[in-house]
Amino acid sequence: MERDFLEKEDELLLLDIPTVCGVAKQAFSAWLVKDAERRVNFLVDVGSFSGASYLIKRLKRANIVRLDAILLTHVHLDHAGGTGSLLQTFPETKVFCHPKGKPHLIAPKRLWQETLGVMGPGTAEEEMPIPLPEDSFLLDDFSLSGLTILETPGHASHHCSFLYEIGRERILFPGEAAGAFRRTTTGEIFVRPSSPPIFFLEKANESLKKLEKTNPTLICFPHYGYTRDTSFFLENSHGQLLLWRKLVAELLSAGRSEREIFEELLKRDPLLHGFWSLKKPIQDHEARNLTICIKGFVKSLLGA
Ligand SMILES: [Zn+2]
Repeated sequence: MERDFLEKEDELLLLDIPTVCGVAKQAFSAWLVKDAERRVNFLVDVGSFSGASYLIKRLKRANIVRLDAILLTHVHLDHAGGTGSLLQTFPETKVFCHPKGKPHLIAPKRLWQETLGVMGPGTAEEEMPIPLPEDSFLLDDFSLSGLTILETPGHASHHCSFLYEIGRERILFPGEAAGAFRRTTTGEIFVRPSSPPIFFLEKANESLKKLEKTNPTLICFPHYGYTRDTSFFLENSHGQLLLWRKLVAELLSAGRSEREIFEELLKRDPLLHGFWSLKKPIQDHEARNLTICIKGFVKSLLGA
């Protein structure tokens, strides 16, 4: 029997986690999988430290008394900052992240300070997230029936994506390896690369090729929501990365500033056209994200 997770809300839940960036809605989606057949519950990413109390309440409302695992796509604090708080409520829960990410979760101070530096005051956590106990991790080679872990560096050097197969569904959780996705108020889509500093452009290109081969039936994004138009999205997201590589290189060699590159991309990248029909707080949020992502893209192209 074909399953539609998003209609059967008890099996796959999008949890809208508030962020510290002044955007309370539709900035970050954590995903809860409740697989009754395999008797396993897990979260893909948890959101920020400041969103953790909301997430815990939301899990209780979903009748989660046991959480088997938290799968982290990467340790950036908007994805992983709430993990330590969650473990205080669910001490049995085990965490997966790429081995390179673990030290940042055990001792988050440096990552926290660097995040404040990149994001600027008022846009990152004011308090340091709770450190994770060293024994809270799953083994690097752990296996879970139905789950494939894909190394997809680019957005971060330690970034992973997850493919979860259940029934006829192939659910891809790409983290930020396939960019950010939104539906606008007019039903258009808005897509942008997730390329804040430090961004690894060529690795991101290879990771997108890898994701295109996963042939998913559903893609669940952290930023934000989901799509069933999977091959259209993956091809276009990849095409956008290649378009940016060409356009940004041309604009840089013509001596254009990052602000001018921002304006040119908004005019010339068709996947950004939906920017103008985003709701105002989301549009402001995405304007800030685009500025940061252009900075990372430029740095990556210049090898800086
Ligand atoms: Zn990130």
